[in-house]
Amino acid sequence: MLLLCPLMMQAQTTVKPVSGDGITTLLQRYRLNTPANVREFKRINKGKFTADGGLILGRSYKLPQTGSSNREEDEEQESRKTRKSERMSNREPLFGKRYEKINRVSDELEGACFYLVSGHGGPDPGAIGYIGKHELHEDEYAYDIILRLARNLRQRGAKVHIIIQDAKDGIRNDHYLNNSERETCMGSRIPLNQVARLQQRCDKINQLYRKDRSSYKRAVFVHVDSRGRSNQVDVFFYHALGSKTGKRLAENIRKTFEQKYDKHQPNRGFSGTVSARELYVLRKATPASVFLELGNIQNKKDQQRLIIPSNRQALADWICKGIVRDYKNR
Ligand SMILES: [Zn+2]
Repeated sequence: MLLLCPLMMQAQTTVKPVSGDGITTLLQRYRLNTPANVREFKRINKGKFTADGGLILGRSYKLPQTGSSNREEDEEQESRKTRKSERMSNREPLFGKRYEKINRVSDELEGACFYLVSGHGGPDPGAIGYIGKHELHEDEYAYDIILRLARNLRQRGAKVHIIIQDAKDGIRNDHYLNNSERETCMGSRIPLNQVARLQQRCDKINQLYRKDRSSYKRAVFVHVDSRGRSNQVDVFFYHALGSKTGKRLAENIRKTFEQKYDKHQPNRGFSGTVSARELYVLRKATPASVFLELGNIQNKKDQQRLIIPSNRQALADWICKGIVRDYKNR
């Protein structure tokens, strides 16, 4: 018996089945077993099948040509996919009905890729502040700022992964943001245990990082609490120990904040600092990262700043501006 390599036989148009072959096993051998090919095979070999549609040993069968009709079908499917992804590329349902459509404003961040993480979430609200009867949960305010930042980055052509997600809360223009435990880590339940919770988001980032082909990949962590809950209300920018690219990103964002403060609140002055800090997520996340503390939700003055929606937007705008500066000088 003559043994033929299936790949060599692909050029040949007629074949004979071996014992046990059905249409699909036969086509499989030539890597042709698509539904379209099965239909085509039946059409071009009409009259050569047993009563119940089986192959007859010893007979020759024509193989479908890997061309014309199948290719048209494939192309049609391909262009359907492209159209859908184009439509999806300027929409993000997480932003909420009002903001889900993303209008392009520039190409400044074309080629850049971001992993955006709002602090806490799920069963962990983070720090809690009080204004009268209102309970302000850190995770909700951090999430609103992260969504605004994500949208800004997308509008400038960046690829963005929103790691902590809430299927219901989009970008909100309320002063007091409703509290929920709905947040997930891209669909996975967030555990209560702190190390497990932080490891989960780092795993997610690192997993995506391995697949993303960009040469500029950065993670941004946003919190609205502060270590000492004193009157230290400025913004803090942290990077991982020894991370030059993380430090440069932190400094570019800090510079942007300084300029904005000088312009809008010249008397206040800005003393936000950049420093290295031993934080779990900074150590475990693969991409160069910046960790921002944008205020203190337990501080009366900061609370006023955070509950105003346009202020949350301004914070997102400034972070975005700092990122664009970093990307341009890369
Ligand atoms: Zn926090």
